[in-house]
Amino acid sequence: MFSKILIANRGEIACRVAATARRMGIKTVAVYSDADANAKHVVACDEAVWIGASAAKESYLRADKIIEVALATGAQAIHPGYGFLSENSEFADACAQAGLVFIGPPASAIRAMGSKSAAKSLMEKAGVPLVPGYHGEDQDADLLQAEADRIAYPVLLKASAGGGGKGMRVVEQASEFKAALASCKREAINSFGDDKVLVEKYLQRPRHIEIQVFADTQGHCVYLFERDCSVQRRHQKVLEEAPAPGMTAERRAAMGKAAVAAAQAVGYVGAGTVEFIANQDGSFYFMEMNTRLQVEHPVTEMITGTDLVEWQLRVAYGEPLPMQQDALRIHGHAIEARIYAENPEKGFLPSIGTLRHLSTPAAVNFELGKSSISGAPAAVRIDSGVRAGDAISPFYDPMIAKLIVWGADRETALLRMAAALDAYQVVGLSSNIAFLRRLVSGDAFSSADLDTGLIERHHASLFPPPQAASTATLALAVAALLRSEQSASNDPWQSSQGWRMNSVLQRTLTFKEEDTNYSVQVSYQTMHQKAGWLLTQNNDDGSTAAIFISLLTADGNDLVLQFGEQTVRGTVVRDGEHFHVFHQGKHTDLHYLDVLAHAGEQEAEGGNLTAPMPGKIVALLVAAGTTVKKGEALVIMEAMKMEHTISAPHDGIVDELLYGIGDQVSEGAHLLHFSIAA
Ligand code: ADP
Repeated sequence: MFSKILIANRGEIACRVAATARRMGIKTVAVYSDADANAKHVVACDEAVWIGASAAKESYLRADKIIEVALATGAQAIHPGYGFLSENSEFADACAQAGLVFIGPPASAIRAMGSKSAAKSLMEKAGVPLVPGYHGEDQDADLLQAEADRIAYPVLLKASAGGGGKGMRVVEQASEFKAALASCKREAINSFGDDKVLVEKYLQRPRHIEIQVFADTQGHCVYLFERDCSVQRRHQKVLEEAPAPGMTAERRAAMGKAAVAAAQAVGYVGAGTVEFIANQDGSFYFMEMNTRLQVEHPVTEMITGTDLVEWQLRVAYGEPLPMQQDALRIHGHAIEARIYAENPEKGFLPSIGTLRHLSTPAAVNFELGKSSISGAPAAVRIDSGVRAGDAISPFYDPMIAKLIVWGADRETALLRMAAALDAYQVVGLSSNIAFLRRLVSGDAFSSADLDTGLIERHHASLFPPPQAASTATLALAVAALLRSEQSASNDPWQSSQGWRMNSVLQRTLTFKEEDTNYSVQVSYQTMHQKAGWLLTQNNDDGSTAAIFISLLTADGNDLVLQFGEQTVRGTVVRDGEHFHVFHQGKHTDLHYLDVLAHAGEQEAEGGNLTAPMPGKIVALLVAAGTTVKKGEALVIMEAMKMEHTISAPHDGIVDELLYGIGDQVSEGAHLLHFSIAA
């Protein structure tokens, strides 16, 4: 076996590969960019070498540099992970020329599958079913239109070189065809440098079902069953599961056979995925083959008890597949949720910043490569490339982690997923955790009524209107605030003198959540000899509600309160003036308005005169000394390829602009001085 490999990737997949290598006694070399100098994957490997600036094309895409590092460190093979150079046939060739093993398929197989059109022609010959469509060389607009008319609308235009959901257009009717073609070709040339397109019948309510295949250099090829990745947003996967709900043994065997035929048609070696699009009646068609390990490979590992990275290493070394088809079995059910730093409410816009607090459910009963997990009641696995304190930067994919659960059946796995999401806490940036939680417990997903339009169709229930913070949530924030105001040495809740702040026995505390203010009166009380507070809240309808609260236990950020006749437990993470309350799976960000301490300043800060993420100033819309109205746009910055407008929080005057056009600013940088109009 190899004694040392280089991992040409970052984040969770680099950590994932390193974990298996360590278990097998193989030394690992990490490569990293400026932005990743302190990244988790750097620490996860035995050695780490800097390869360039933060932008991927200056680091993780530098094939020459990476090969140089592999040779200099004495690595015998390179694992490309997914993304970056993983499906780059020139890189695979260059590795071979340098005498290094590329842990992936032969360059010729990558090339054969690299063009969706060429791959479809090959598959046609191999007898693999295809979506009715046109994938020819001739790109004449009239000919393409004639083909679309023949296939019948709606049709889907796809960039032949496309990937990641980019370069696709649905065309509903003939009259829209030409305009859609032009726009698809523009996006294709911009994103992939190739404007070739293909036309396919656009299937209604399809499912995305893919087959994991594995081949060795001795001519064996097996399939490790299917994954259902139908739940997508913008044609990108959100939830993945294995096996696919409703899959029959016959259909599974037919799809497996087709996938193996697809792999064999291109002389495949290593891990690959054949993606099919399936109708609700089960009929399926080849879409494309991904010639690498996929993001969602853990669900397959969990149901088959395999370690696919170990398989990759063995096959790359020339060993035969560890298991043949007859020995492969499905145990139970696994579901993966991709936890992203993004804002689902704002069109899934990536959110970047620092993970000020990160607390995850405990990983249980899961061990990589352990062949029998069938006896375990449930298992939770977290594949992550970040730790608390790390930043999600604008340079790479904003993934925080993959959360994977296993259960004896789908129902058990679903319950486990819901509980694990409830226990997943992130502070410092927006995440899709609450959205995933609604998704997994929603009717459509829990009843396995799956298709690629699930999220859009259930938009109303997946994006409910914001709900007012509950009294229990406010009580947790109040308890955390009062507790932090006390010195650690005296425990006021238990003290017989009572807990008094500067001898004040009653005060009003105001918290703000988005545009809603919550004011609660707290007054010191004892009840049944327990020190606590009477919390009084004024309701919108003019009524008031009062409840006695007392802190029962506090373990770090985890609090248990007496709450009237009940107990309430939750976690409160304080980040400056923000109290992040996690209660019953809900995360509420309560901004404490300490009116006395911050008269004026607080509000101005709420107006966001700071950079929300690192980026570049692209426009200054006002000059110093300008009087502006609340909401007026002041500065435009560009970050993550999107523009963000910084507007006036109040009527006031822009005193000074602190940056010029073209300046790079870091997250949280103050962009200008502003004074509020008197
Ligand atoms: P990419 O390489 O960009 O991921 P794919 O060809 O794999 O593109 O397609 C991505 C997704 O687009 C699929 O998972 C499916 O949701 C949708 N899709 C692709 N082809 C069709 C089709 N013919 N009809 C309906 N939806 C499709």
